[in-house]
Amino acid sequence: MTFERVKLSFEFNALEPHIDSKTMELHSEKHHQGYTDKLNAAVEDTEWADYSISELLGTLDDLPDDIQTTVRNNGGGFANHNLYFSTLSPIGGGEPAGELMEAIEDSFDSFEEFKDEFSKAAADQFGSGWAFLAIDEEGELYISPKPNQDSPLMDSHIPILGIDVWEHAYYLKYQNKRADYIEAFWNVIDWEKVEEIYQKAQA
Ligand code: MN
Repeated sequence: MTFERVKLSFEFNALEPHIDSKTMELHSEKHHQGYTDKLNAAVEDTEWADYSISELLGTLDDLPDDIQTTVRNNGGGFANHNLYFSTLSPIGGGEPAGELMEAIEDSFDSFEEFKDEFSKAAADQFGSGWAFLAIDEEGELYISPKPNQDSPLMDSHIPILGIDVWEHAYYLKYQNKRADYIEAFWNVIDWEKVEEIYQKAQA
């Protein structure tokens, strides 16, 4: 099996002015493709070639040393960007609805509280990394900050939304102003898609 990255369902410039065209192009076509290619090269012709990405990242410790770091970094990068790019939309923004909204209110009291906590986790991540909204083994939502390309899948948890705070995700437009990128991110979240991932994870 060959891992294939999620392709954008819209034009590179469709998220402007929130995320610029050049960043979207480089981020998906170069960075994400790079993680995907390196993941495929690492597991090709091994007994792990047929594992799902969740299985691979959930059992990293079982991998031999010579491919473990490569799978951690590039398998993480593959999975994280699949989530990121599939939950962005030109008609995104607003708030979630239905059961996802109820679960957010259960865990964070209100959508505003969640938004503040998620934004803070993204801003406070030192250097490269991510902030995720994830589901733990009890089925509860929580915020999971991660360095580099680590993923909640490595804790056998399920990420349903993630913001990439590597500089390659925002530097062309926002330079050092990560907080402005984080604020803009809220305008392009496809909450219907996040709800769909949430529902699938509950099943
Ligand atoms: Mn990235």
